[in-house]
Amino acid sequence: MKFLKLKLTTPYLELDPLFYDRVEPTPLAKPYLISVSQNAAKLLGVKDDDLRDELLVKIVNGSHKLEGSQTFAMCYAGHQFGYFVPRLGDGRAINLGKVNGWNLQLKGSGQTLYSRQGDGRAVLRSSIREYLMSEAMHGLGIATSRAIALIGSDTDVARERWEKGAIVLRLSPTWVRFGTFEYFNLKGRHEKLQALADYVIDESFPHLKNAEGIYLKMYEEIIKNTATTLAGWQSVGFNHGVMNTDNMCIDGRTIDYGPFAFLDDYDAEYICNHTDQEGRYSFKNQPGIAHWNLAQLAKALSPIINYEDAQGALDRDFGATYEAKYLSLMFAKMGLYESDAKDVELLKWLLGSLQSATIDYSAFFRKLSRYDGKRADILDSCVYRAELDEWLSAYELRLSKEKLSTQERHTKMLAVNPKYILKNHILQEAIEEAKLGSFSMIEDLLQVAHAPFDEHEELEYLSKPTPMKAKNIKLSCSS
Ligand code: AMP
Ligand code: MG
Repeated sequence: MKFLKLKLTTPYLELDPLFYDRVEPTPLAKPYLISVSQNAAKLLGVKDDDLRDELLVKIVNGSHKLEGSQTFAMCYAGHQFGYFVPRLGDGRAINLGKVNGWNLQLKGSGQTLYSRQGDGRAVLRSSIREYLMSEAMHGLGIATSRAIALIGSDTDVARERWEKGAIVLRLSPTWVRFGTFEYFNLKGRHEKLQALADYVIDESFPHLKNAEGIYLKMYEEIIKNTATTLAGWQSVGFNHGVMNTDNMCIDGRTIDYGPFAFLDDYDAEYICNHTDQEGRYSFKNQPGIAHWNLAQLAKALSPIINYEDAQGALDRDFGATYEAKYLSLMFAKMGLYESDAKDVELLKWLLGSLQSATIDYSAFFRKLSRYDGKRADILDSCVYRAELDEWLSAYELRLSKEKLSTQERHTKMLAVNPKYILKNHILQEAIEEAKLGSFSMIEDLLQVAHAPFDEHEELEYLSKPTPMKAKNIKLSCSS
């Protein structure tokens, strides 16, 4: 199938018009292609390489429609930093339709009914970040929306200073958010709530069809998926930054990449979002916030499910799923395949040691994946080495219980501890280059994003340590 020949459907438009705004994109001036992800395009069944065609730029710019496409923005509400906002919605995203189970969406394509004071635009820097991070999250094995293409333009966009507008063609099996349910609950439109739940089951949980207590079962699936994604984030050291309920995808995947960051030196208290002064969305708070957001979703669903049952499911399933998943990911990162009663303690001790050592989280695990008893490589990259040194002694003792050879353990650990992580400083370099009209670094980053565990000899420069002044910095929400 050729990309330009794709035929879209728009099942969301079969819902009541209250759910959306039929809006046309407002194209950017002088659009040009920056990058395409062939890897993501394959999801649509696209095999032929017609992705560099001029028409693709027009499709992403919203000035040419794929067959069957009917554009619209989705309506939702949401809790932002704990406070309920009754109407949000796609203020700068416009949906094109669905193909092969993926909903295509343009981000930055102009105003909609839900733009409030916003201009409906996304600037180049934030679009580069979203484009690359969507693909990188997938490369790390964590559920996420994806991105097919990124275009730049000559359109001026006002932020703290003048910037250029860009658009990302992104895709997800669903764009329904926790906040979509919150919107219809608030409105007291309970029949619409049920219609939305039926739509979500159709789209994201079709195996539940005809199940008894179907809406509670749907909620249980959302709990488990969300907990699994959160375990993934915590294991790779990802800080989302804006875990508002409108940024929580109903199938649990990661969406809406804003001021996200990966940990540089391990710091459980790290807050990537500059406006989050109280640290509501700090790294360590993320699982707790996901739980809180799920509790809001239970309230929103209460007209169609028994609220006590939903609370019971949340208390029962979230922590258990999260913990089981997180521990299995972390033990794999540590190279522990046998089980030992003290493994959880060993992990906690490790995290405490990393915090006090001041050492890069991802680089530490990559080094640990080659650990053969010689400690210099690890300890020389710490500021304070004593505690981690002591931990390594305990770790060595624990490794003696493993059945695999050192070589075998190293191979397995290297396959789960990424060498390439899209740190902010490296993304920033790619952004600076892009502003000067050079996009080769974006291509390099895309390549490592898709295979972060492999060695890419010619792209070694993308794994360099974070410069001191760029460590654990905060990012503004402006995008
Ligand atoms: P976010 O926190 O980026 O997910 O955005 C929160 C809400 O603000 C969503 O409803 C967005 O669609 C909307 N929004 C953000 N930026 C803009 C913009 N430049 N123009 C219109 N709406 C925006
Ligand atoms: Mg959002």
